[in-house]
Amino acid sequence: MNYTPPWMCSELESFRDAIRRFVESEVTPHQEHWRKQQHVDRSLWNKGGEMGMLLADIPEEYGGSGGSFAHQAIVFEELGYAGDMAFGIHVHAIVAHYILNQGTEEQKKKYLPLLASGEMVAAIAMSEPGAGSDLKGIRTSAVRDGDGYRINGSKIFISNGYLADLVVVVTKTDPDAGSKGVSLMLVETKNCPGYRVGRILEKIGQKGQDTCELFFDDVRVPADAVLGGLEGKGFYQLMTELPYERTILGVAGVAAIERALRLTIEYTKERKAFGQALIEMQNTRFVLAEIKTEATIARTFIDRCIVDMLEGRMDTELASMAKYWISDLQCKVIDQCLQLFGGYGYMLEYPIAQMYVDARVQRIYGGANEIMKEIISRSL
Ligand SMILES: Cc1cc2nc3c(=O)[nH]c(=O)nc-3n(C[C@H](O)[C@H](O)[C@H](O)COP(=O)(O)OP(=O)(O)OC[C@H]3O[C@@H](n4cnc5c(N)ncnc54)[C@H](O)[C@@H]3O)c2cc1C
Repeated sequence: MNYTPPWMCSELESFRDAIRRFVESEVTPHQEHWRKQQHVDRSLWNKGGEMGMLLADIPEEYGGSGGSFAHQAIVFEELGYAGDMAFGIHVHAIVAHYILNQGTEEQKKKYLPLLASGEMVAAIAMSEPGAGSDLKGIRTSAVRDGDGYRINGSKIFISNGYLADLVVVVTKTDPDAGSKGVSLMLVETKNCPGYRVGRILEKIGQKGQDTCELFFDDVRVPADAVLGGLEGKGFYQLMTELPYERTILGVAGVAAIERALRLTIEYTKERKAFGQALIEMQNTRFVLAEIKTEATIARTFIDRCIVDMLEGRMDTELASMAKYWISDLQCKVIDQCLQLFGGYGYMLEYPIAQMYVDARVQRIYGGANEIMKEIISRSL
């Protein structure tokens, strides 16, 4: 089936080729090692910076590559086609967009070039042991103290947490003001008394990604650490930026679905049982026909989302639909594909097994899928 996404062009094809070559040489050979050490090598970030893939869709005046969302989507697709879940560019790019869209001019000029080059690795710390979906319940506080703030509290499940040099921390600056009392603080972690990274958490999948607990014990930040320079805007900033995060989870999810289908077609053509290739059995063909249909629907949908992002009209509902529907489909499809691998599908040396454990969290992070349905239902 010949299909070219409506947003694709020859310049983007060349960019895709370059990213694919980078992933083949700098990512794929190291995946096993990263899973064992629970994080990527720090040098990968510098290499990614040199390659221009970290902030592909951030303007050149701030050190980015000056591309569009299509460029950044290609980066996520190529990592997805390679089955990589360790290189936390997703979170890094999300933080860059918080700064680009919500930061002051000084914050943009200071941080975006460092994030683009990989000199700084970024993380965003919303979730706490006592509050994930219900972000209004966070307890980490930022209390005004002279010409700055003191941050106290702890965060959990923070992607890029082990390597992060810059953490956007969701805090309460006014605990009595509800959502209007939330502020996002830019915390530089190097030489930062009171800041501590906890252990890298043991996950069932995505083992090469450094997901950590972070602790803030009287961490002092200057007054201009408040994202956008104004207290109390944090909740609005989160709500404004979450569609970007949810769309890229959809982009990565479709790439995973397409990869699972390709791997399973290849395997079922080779594997024989009862004197024939698995793919010659009607059940196999029907399952794969269904998956190919669903993959095509998902591709069409995400391409519409990418076009909406490019044209600046992506909204919260559509991004929530993409996040929930594609991640649900991703988990279902990978499970069906794994079944067709038989016992080999349960062996981690087979990519489909790795994909199975890596995929599960897609339905939980970035806002649990139930929360996505809550958001969508508000538009009914
Ligand atoms: C690998 C990984 C990486 C992560 N990375 C980050 C990160 O970088 N930064 C960060 O801040 N957080 C991160 N998270 C945290 C993630 O965003 C939260 O786990 C998620 O938002 C859910 O919050 P929770 O775990 O507290 O679950 P809870 O809020 O306790 O919810 C548990 C379950 O209850 C159900 N539920 C909750 N609320 C509702 C509702 N209103 N209606 C119906 N059902 C509901 C859902 O099924 C939900 O899954 C990460 C998590 C993981 C596992």
